[in-house]
Amino acid sequence: MKILIVGAGFSGAVIGRELAESGHSIDIIDSREHIGGNCYTERDEDTNVMVHKYGPHIFHTDNEEVWNYVNAHTEFKPYINRVKSTSKGAVYSLPINLHTINQFFNKTMSPAEAEKFILEEQADTSIIEPVTFEDQAMRFVGKDLYQAFFEGYTKKQWGCDPSELPASILKRLPVRFNYNDNYFFHKYQGMPVEGYTPIIESILNHEKINVELGVEFSQETALGYDHIFFSGPLDGYFSYQLGRLGYRTLDFERIDYEGDYQGCAVMNYGDLDVPYTRIAEHKHFTPWENHEKSVCFKEFSRSCGENDIPYYPIRLVEEKEMLARYIDLAHSTKGVTFVGRLGTYRYLDMDVTIAEALKTAKQFLQDVSDGVSPKPFYVEVL
Ligand code: UDP
Repeated sequence: MKILIVGAGFSGAVIGRELAESGHSIDIIDSREHIGGNCYTERDEDTNVMVHKYGPHIFHTDNEEVWNYVNAHTEFKPYINRVKSTSKGAVYSLPINLHTINQFFNKTMSPAEAEKFILEEQADTSIIEPVTFEDQAMRFVGKDLYQAFFEGYTKKQWGCDPSELPASILKRLPVRFNYNDNYFFHKYQGMPVEGYTPIIESILNHEKINVELGVEFSQETALGYDHIFFSGPLDGYFSYQLGRLGYRTLDFERIDYEGDYQGCAVMNYGDLDVPYTRIAEHKHFTPWENHEKSVCFKEFSRSCGENDIPYYPIRLVEEKEMLARYIDLAHSTKGVTFVGRLGTYRYLDMDVTIAEALKTAKQFLQDVSDGVSPKPFYVEVL
């Protein structure tokens, strides 16, 4: 089959490779001038630091197949994400752990004492089933820690009150009653030695894959192909005919510095009066390299306009209703499968993106061999 894939990020690259391995001819286009989508990394010209152009990406997964997959395409070094947060003039450790709790409340509690203290004196145990982000925080850490670390940050990040957001957003972060300050709890965690771009390059390196950059998708581009995998915005494929799905976008403000600017890779800012959410100092993502000069990026979150790069799907009630209508539209459209963060309008970590791409390719190949019409989605979208 002759297949067109729109988007050269992880979804498009992995699906392209799997189908190419099965003998199909793959053309991949991307509107940007580089591969890798928002995972794109490059060495900064001035400092030679590996910069994550669209914000920090740390690879973490429990999925052994995915871990082996990425390791087959590039060398990883162990990397543990240890995040700090500045709140009201003091620096704390994130995710909330025993160090955070003891420092914040000026105590020297043991794990058991801290757990009892949070449960009996801080947490709002009247909340049985947390539904919103605010409920989830109030139930598990209580008002004081919620206000210091989550309320302001989340208002800045999402542009709305945490009481309007689902609890699932906060469930991404653990609360620990020991001194483990690893931001993630997955079995495998690491950083690609030469960044993410070479992984995508290696995945795309196949004689049956042809990549063209700087090419916008249009319905004319699609002519002559047997099937399309679309990893661009779902609403964009349908020319936004039912309205625009809401996203948050990010603006980055560069800081150049001689030496070590903040001493860690990621410093979050919990206070509402600090306009940015965090500062990433990229040389700390490669602790095995030595760099005198440093480059950091302040991250500002705002509502995504028509010409901005979409980052985080908002997925509140309104967006979900619109999403359901776009899904119906997709089901009545033949010859295209929607994939990835933008194609399925979900916030996806890299490992989930790769796992879903592998699954999509496998099930598509199965449908083709069974003579069944390919499906618009091979994953649960709503
Ligand atoms: N969050 C917060 N304070 C922090 C870090 C995170 O309130 O210091 C909330 C915020 O709403 C964020 C969510 O937790 O969107 C998930 O955080 P994560 O660090 O996973 O966000 P990402 O790095 O994916 O943007």
